[in-house]
This record gives sequence, C-alpha cells and structure tokens, in this order.
Amino acid sequence: MLFRNVCLLILLFMLAGCGPGQGNVIALFMATPTPTNVPATATPIPSATPTFTPEPTATPVPPSATPTPVRVRTGPGEIICPILLYHRVDDLATSNPYVIGIQDFRQQMQYLHDNGYQTITVSELVAAINFGADLPEKPVVITFDDGDLSVYKNAYPIMVEYGFTGVAYLVGNYVGTSGYMDVDQLKALAKSGWEMGSHTQGHADLSNCRFCDQEIVYSKAYLAEKLGVEINTFAFPFGIKTKKAMETVIANYKGAVGLGVFLNQGGYNLYYLWRRPIDNGTDMGTFISYLPK
Ligand SMILES: [Zn+2]
Repeated sequence: MLFRNVCLLILLFMLAGCGPGQGNVIALFMATPTPTNVPATATPIPSATPTFTPEPTATPVPPSATPTPVRVRTGPGEIICPILLYHRVDDLATSNPYVIGIQDFRQQMQYLHDNGYQTITVSELVAAINFGADLPEKPVVITFDDGDLSVYKNAYPIMVEYGFTGVAYLVGNYVGTSGYMDVDQLKALAKSGWEMGSHTQGHADLSNCRFCDQEIVYSKAYLAEKLGVEINTFAFPFGIKTKKAMETVIANYKGAVGLGVFLNQGGYNLYYLWRRPIDNGTDMGTFISYLPK
C-alpha cells in the first residue's frame, strides 16, 4: 500500500514536469470536488412580457370531407380510366342531350366521390401511359367541351365540394363571348388544378381539313397566350378524326380525346382516348354502368 502511494506520488511529479498544462494535472488530482447543487428542476426565467396563446382558429371543413388521396404507381402502358364528357350543366327544360341537370350532375359527382374515385387530368393520364406516374387507385377524368359558362357557374362549385378537378376543352373563338367562360373564369379554373385543352379555334368539323393548321395549331398558341397556361391535349370536335387531322394533332400535342365506350386507355389510343358522353336524362344505373366493374 505504501509502495503504491509512493509510486503514485512519483508519477505525479513526473507528469508535473511535462511542460505546459502541468498545473492543471496537479489541480486535477489535488482539487477536492465541491458538490454543486444542481436544482432538480430548472428555475424558470420570468419573461418580461407575458405571451398570449392565440385562440385556435377553426379550420373550415368542406361540406364533404375528401380523404387523403392515396396514390399508386401506375403505368407505363395500358390504364383503366373512365373519361367522362359533359358540355352544359344547367336546369333547362330541354331534351338537348348536351344539357345535364344540376342535381343529376351533383348525384353523379356524389357517386364518384362515395365510391373512391379521384380525378386526374388528361395530361396526367397521358404521362402515366407514357412513363408511369403516381395516380389515384380509382382515377377518373371529367371533361367539358366548348367552354360553356354553366361549367364555371354550376359544375365547378359542385366539383370543388368533392375535391374534383376537370379538363376544359375550349374553342378559341368562343372564349369570353356570350354564354361562354371568359379569361378570368378560365384562369380561376386553371389555378385550382383544371387542365385547359384545345377544341379547335372555331369548332370545325375536321373531316374537311382545309383549315387544320388554324383549327389545331393556331388554337393551341392562341389559348396558351390568352390564358397563360400550357395547352398539351386536344379534343376532336364531334369525335371526328381524319388522317391529316390526326397527323397535325400528333405533331402538336401530347395526347388527345375522342369518343368511345371503352375504359382501357393506352399507347395505342393516346391521340384518341375513349371518352363517354354523359347525356341529358342519363339515370344513375346507366351512369354506374359506364364505370369499371
Ligand atoms: Zn364541341
């Protein structure tokens, strides 16, 4: 024991002679640690100005809460996706097939919502077919041709309630004219996630393609400039396509929609995606039969 203490002492002196910091080494061994009283809990520092917790502001809940969208990797390749075609949503005493009653439209949107459908745009569908994309499990595309004012006034507010967006296929010469949506209304739709597409400049029947460039090429530039958005997809008026019209559309757009009763969309019909017209008087049973089983 004594020998061990002597050794320790010698070691201490050796260390003490080892240059700078020697005092510290001695102090380390010699200093008697004084117990520091650490309070169990930190003393709160009084804040000079009392802080006020603001009243929580109520988050507005939409009338029909939309579930958080679940997206799954879809494509590339064929995708099952209904594309619905509407023109006018209005309460008019008419048998015009293009006019859908407001309550009928609401009922159809309600059904889609309650059965887990979520909207995508035609551009999203085209991208998914080409490259693959994260899409909702049950995608649906809701399109409106011609740019009727009732789309903004009647269809849009209902779709907002269900968290849906649409695609407006516009006729360049109709924008801002009586009975059709104007630039501000279309910009509001675009801002809320709607896609804007071309439906020609003058609603031409493209079976005579004398004015294909004007109808297909110019309308794209015209709408893009007027609305300040990209125009990437096209809708054939009356569903009519010809070889020349198709070539012009392919050269200028990323995809296009036509008419058809099928639900499978793919690379084989990227420029004539099947689109189901929803006519005046379509009952719910018929509407449901247009959707995937
Ligand atoms: Zn049309």
